[in-house]
Amino acid sequence: MGERFDRVLVWFRRDLRDEDHAALSRALHDARAVYCAFVFDTDILEALPDRADRRVEFIWRSVAALDAALTARGGGLIVRVGRAAEVIPALAQALACDAVFANRDYEPAALARDAQVKAALESVGRSFHLFRDQVIVDPEEVRSASGRPYQVFTPFSRAWLKRLDEAHLSPQPVAVRAARLAPPPRREMPSLEALGFSPTDLLALGVAPGMDGARATWDAFRQRLADYDRLRDRPDLDATSHLSVHLRFGTISVRELVRYALQAGGGAQAWLAELIWREFFQMILFFHPQVVNHAFRAEFDGLPWPGTDADFARWCEGRTGYPLVDAGMRQLRATGFMHNRVRMVVASFLSKHLLVDWRRGERHFARWLLDYELASNNGNWQWAASTGCDAQPWFRIFNPVAQSRRYDPEGRYIRRWVPELSRVPAPAIHAPWEMSPLAQEASGCRIGRDYPAPCVDHGHARERALAWFRAHRHADGG
Ligand code: FAD
Repeated sequence: MGERFDRVLVWFRRDLRDEDHAALSRALHDARAVYCAFVFDTDILEALPDRADRRVEFIWRSVAALDAALTARGGGLIVRVGRAAEVIPALAQALACDAVFANRDYEPAALARDAQVKAALESVGRSFHLFRDQVIVDPEEVRSASGRPYQVFTPFSRAWLKRLDEAHLSPQPVAVRAARLAPPPRREMPSLEALGFSPTDLLALGVAPGMDGARATWDAFRQRLADYDRLRDRPDLDATSHLSVHLRFGTISVRELVRYALQAGGGAQAWLAELIWREFFQMILFFHPQVVNHAFRAEFDGLPWPGTDADFARWCEGRTGYPLVDAGMRQLRATGFMHNRVRMVVASFLSKHLLVDWRRGERHFARWLLDYELASNNGNWQWAASTGCDAQPWFRIFNPVAQSRRYDPEGRYIRRWVPELSRVPAPAIHAPWEMSPLAQEASGCRIGRDYPAPCVDHGHARERALAWFRAHRHADGG
């Protein structure tokens, strides 16, 4: 069978692996010679607020690992620094590639960049091809009976499962034609410093980047998968996969994870549902890119959120006086991770107890989360603030103390992240201000001195939020 192309350039972006990789597999099938490239995109790097950023180090290490893996297969990775929209067409030109292959990205900025690259390539007779890889099912493939994209998770999830066939799930082989990989004309891996960044505590935190890191994380999680359904809401236990960063940067194939979960059945079904939530929010962002700056539901858009800068600062720093909220916010800053249940509680607390615009919280998460992903972050924030599609109804307000008692019963998670409360015993730790002055002294934690008093009273904050949502939810656009 004749190849369609003489030379193809595979452009890696958020798919930093050389196994089960759609664009690479297709390129090896369709071309006689295949070059591989990654661009540290200065458009993205320059916009980051901090010069020490765990995500940059994660990518940098994963790119080095990808280069080593491709080199072992007889090829290698061309690594460049610059504006990807310009570097990729120039590289295709320099290497005389007929086409550029990449895996599809659904974020508005990536779509704009890809449109630019496509136009630049086509203007000189080259072509640009995108493949489904980051998700199992492309957003356009799952529609309701009326042909419209879904806005509610459960019917989406049902239709998604029904839509699956071999083509969605089968591995995209690389090894079979790896001999077609071409070595890079010159080798050049910039140091982290050359990119303008300094090293972080990523490895010290136990995060293992690259394909090997993903594999080790996945192998370890499979031992716990059967208990996921029962224990996943417990931040004090290590019951979830920690694969989010690997899914974010594609160091593992989502096809492999979904295939496994489908076969495993039982407790794995709850985990599969989370992977479908990931696809749901990708689909929502793709069809409704306005959610980046606006509420999904017009009745909640442009609300005059009254929360103050001081409220926001207390929340960011983990000084609200609500132990579970503070533990979560401190875990985020210390590690770049926060347990999902706690993310839900802190997001609800900011938007409902403090009535701070959810977009401020979303930006804070975007700055600190190692697994930060526009679609999932925005979708979940809008869920928690009740402004999103299929969101928590506006009148449902988490009680942070009840959540704490239920999901961190012994207070172990709190004690880990809020050392001021380390000697406060279990029942009291969820609402330490209720301890008598004597008990406070005995546990070395006087409220107001060693640990803040609650910044709002739950009952009062709840009533205020209900009244505020009732009064304002039709104010604009409703
Ligand atoms: P597991 O429980 O093992 O789940 C497996 C995978 O499913 C995750 O790795 C993730 O890819 C996906 N997933 C799980 N829960 C969700 C969800 N609710 N929505 C979408 N995908 C999900 N997840 C991100 O990947 N990036 C974000 O920026 C992000 N921001 C969030 C913000 C808020 C306010 C909330 C409430 C949740 C957010 N999540 C985000 C979803 C979820 O908290 C994380 O995916 C999860 O905690 C990651 O841990 P894990 O890999 O151990 O998850």
